Parts: sequence; structure tokens; C-alpha cells
Amino acid sequence: MANDELTGHSPAKPQSGRTVLDPHFDPHLDRYAARTAGMTASEIRALFAVASRPEVVSLAGGMPNLAALPLDTLSTQVAQIIAEDGLTALQYASAHGLPPLREQICDVMALEGITAHPDDVVVTVGSQMGLDLVTRLFCDPGDVVVAEGPSYVGALGSFASYQAQVVHVAMDEHGLVPEALRAALRQARITGRRVKFLYTIPNFHNPAGVTLAVERRAEILEICRTYDVLVVEDNPYGLLGFDGQTYPALHSLDPDNVVYLGSFSKTFASGLRVGWVLAPPAVREKLVLATESATLCPPTLNQLIVSRYLATHDWQSQIKTFQQNYRERRDAMLSALEQYLPPGCTWTKPDGGFYVWVTVPEGVDTKAMLPRAVSAQVAYASGTGFYTDGSGSRQMRLSYCYPTPERIREGVRRLAAVLHSELEL
Ligand code: PMP
Repeated sequence: MANDELTGHSPAKPQSGRTVLDPHFDPHLDRYAARTAGMTASEIRALFAVASRPEVVSLAGGMPNLAALPLDTLSTQVAQIIAEDGLTALQYASAHGLPPLREQICDVMALEGITAHPDDVVVTVGSQMGLDLVTRLFCDPGDVVVAEGPSYVGALGSFASYQAQVVHVAMDEHGLVPEALRAALRQARITGRRVKFLYTIPNFHNPAGVTLAVERRAEILEICRTYDVLVVEDNPYGLLGFDGQTYPALHSLDPDNVVYLGSFSKTFASGLRVGWVLAPPAVREKLVLATESATLCPPTLNQLIVSRYLATHDWQSQIKTFQQNYRERRDAMLSALEQYLPPGCTWTKPDGGFYVWVTVPEGVDTKAMLPRAVSAQVAYASGTGFYTDGSGSRQMRLSYCYPTPERIREGVRRLAAVLHSELEL
């Protein structure tokens, strides 16, 4: 067969007589754009299939726990939106986002000290799309993005798809270390590398579970100003502090040099895919143009659902309920880690958000251990997925957001048993 001679590929012949190609063979390989080279399935996504088997306790994913949402009220409201305003709700709308929702988003951001004009808000399909658009606007291939080490896997995916290079900067229990940031920016300047922005998750970090100390915030902003580097602040968890505490957004301290990404995924409903970007006017105009070419507009119906929910529901009490649920799960995880993990393991102690970052003793490789953990019916995200430089093999991210406290305890118990046997090898 000519095709197979050209490709050197040997087709399998099933009983039916039809020729079936090797599923890993890709006949389009030499057609793809160079930027696809960085597009690899995230380790976490690859795990989803196994981790979602009911017998496996998954501490791997970061799915919000939506059980507390008022589904009856929501279904009535969705029906009302379609009955009263269906022809608008089901129609295209502005790429910028619906004006009433953009006003409400400003009220949400005010809780973290941001004073914003609705014109400067661009509604996106989750903050993931905000990340994609911002990277598209700023990064040429080879440009540098500075990010915490570890960093959010979905952001690393966006940076890779625009062929940006990531330079990781160390964190400690108080978040990004200012001196490490200064050193990284100085080094980039010396070596002539163009840093386009600092990507940072200041609150309840994914995956590290730490929060940037308030005293460090102005310093980080000042360092970025000194090196003429934009700040991209990604803040999906900021309202999920377990004591209801909030921290001043970086945007509130330097609005002209910070692009802020927000989301309703963790405070309302992730499946609606409604997020936003708050940006200085010139950047915002480019974001609207980029949205037009990416999706024409964010989904109208979903924007109306969020808008009605914010207008008619006590959403701040709903967030308090979410905080309590996550706090209970965080407590279960921290006490189980204390009780079961072998000596030599350390972990962060989040006071909000979804994640604990665990460091295991030398000699244990969390990526290599993962199949053994899954056989023991527990899954986690190995640390290597959260770096672009090969670090993270002694780390793992444990999510406590989704399972019940009992399942979390059982998951940690199973994980500890796997760790004990790795250490005995
Ligand atoms: N940023 C961070 C830090 C996240 O953890 C997530 C989701 N896990 C996102 C952005 C994307 O969120 P969404 O697109 O659902 O708003």
C-alpha cells in the first residue's frame, strides 16, 4: 500500500479485513504549526480516566464542589430568562460582555479592594480563555514569562502554545520570594531575554496552597515596575479564604501595570465558563478584538444566568457556604496527613482554596510512584506537571475540594501506605 510505504507505518489487519492504522500514528504530523510542539496532554488530564473510577479516591483533580448550589432556584431562573428574554439570551452579543454583568463584576472585585470601571472589564469563557488571550496579545515565540515555581498547569499550557519560555521563581510559605524575582529579572536582562510578564496567583495558590504575604505585594509590584514587566494576576480563589479573609489584589495597588483575571468557576459554577479580564483601556481594547476572532462573543445565556444569580441571590452567603465546605475538607486532609504520612514529608497549610503541596523524602519520585498509588486506589497530581524545567519529582499536589472528608482521610491513608513501601524499597 502506497501510503504505508511512504510513512513506513505498518497497518494492523483486523478480522473484518479493513485496514486499521495504529491509533498513535498521525498522518498530519508534518502539517502542524510549530506552536503545537508545546501542546502535550497535561499529566492531570491523562489521569482523569483512571482517577474517576469510583473505587479510586481522587486527590488529583481540582473540581469545585457544587453540591451546595441552589439547583431548584437556578432552574427556575434559567427558565425565566428564556421565557422573558429568550431572543436576546439565545442571540450573539457584544465581544466585550454584557454591560450589566460587567457592572456586577466590578462589585465582586470591590471585595478585594479593586476600584474598576465596567468598561475595563472583558468577559471571557472562564479565566482560562483570559489567560489564552493575554498570552496571545503579549507573547511572541521565545519571549519569557516569569511564573511561580510551581505554577498552574493550565497557564503553563497556554504559555507553551504560544511558544513562550517560562522562568520559574521560587516561593516559600509566604508566596513568591521578592529577592528571587529580582534575581530572575536581573538575569534575564543580563542575558538579553525579553520578559513579557510576571504570571502570579497571589491567593491560595494552585498548586502550592500558599498566599502572598501582604507585606510582599508592594515590593513585587515595585520590582516589576523597575524591570518594566507587566503583572498578570490570576485570582480565581481569592474569595475562598476559610475565615472569610481577603487580601488586597495586586491590581488595587498598581492598576496601570496589572492585568487581572477573575472567574465565577470557584465562587459559582465552573460549567458556565464565565470569567473576566480587567485591564487598562488600551489592553482591554485589544482583548475585545482578540475575543472577536477567538469566539465572537462569550455565551450570552450563561452571562445572563450569572447576572441574574448575582442580582437575585445572596451570593456572598453562598460563598460562605463554599468556604465552610472547603474548610472542613482542608481540616480532614491536614489531620490525616499529620496522622499517616511517614517522617520526612512536609506540606503547606492552606488557609483558603483547594490544594495542599506535599514534599516527600529524597529517593521517592512522585511521578514514578503514581501508577503504584493508582493500583492502591488513590490518585494525586505529581509535582512535575507544574513546572516546565523538570522540577517537582519530589512534590505532589493533593486536592481536598471534591471528595467527602471521610474519603479524603481514606485517600491519605492509602497514599501513606504507598509512601511507606516506597521508602522501604
Ligand atoms: N487559574 C487558576 C489558578 C486555576 O486554578 C484555574 C482552574 N483550575 C483557572 C485559572 C481556570 O479557571 P476557569 O477557566 O474555570 O475560570
